[in-house]
Amino acid sequence: MCIFCKIINNEIPSKKVYEDDDVVAILDISQAGYGHTLVMPKKHYENILEIPDNEYSKVMSAVKKLSEKINKNVKPDGINVINNTNEAAGQTVMHYHVHIIPRFKDDDIRFITPDHQNKYDLDEVLKKVCE
Ligand code: AMP
Ligand code: ZN
Repeated sequence: MCIFCKIINNEIPSKKVYEDDDVVAILDISQAGYGHTLVMPKKHYENILEIPDNEYSKVMSAVKKLSEKINKNVKPDGINVINNTNEAAGQTVMHYHVHIIPRFKDDDIRFITPDHQNKYDLDEVLKKVCE
């Protein structure tokens, strides 16, 4: 059983922010920003490519509500909502989850956004993406 399934089953401790029949939200053990929260389905799906639409909708609905709640109570300057899919994208726990990361002016969080200077032909990319 994966670590998040164990948390959902209360086999290992966590700081639960929210829970309903289908969704759980916990504080990330390693707070990238004050209030960093992980939202996940109770059922185990590996990633966004595996989770069915109805479960995805429930998770994202909770993500919106929790973003509003965190915004109201924590009062960050901004919020990042992030999902990492597969190891190449930085996924370390293979149970689908969404990060809500409160952001503050001058915090030191850097997401990698190198300037690729139009490395690709956008018409070719568009054709590929839409095929
Ligand atoms: P990701 O890299 O997108 O798969 O995110 C996994 C996240 O889970 C990381 O930010 C970890 O800090 C967090 N994490 C790992 N183990 C635990 C745990 N036991 N309780 C809470 N958060 C955890
Ligand atoms: Zn799991």
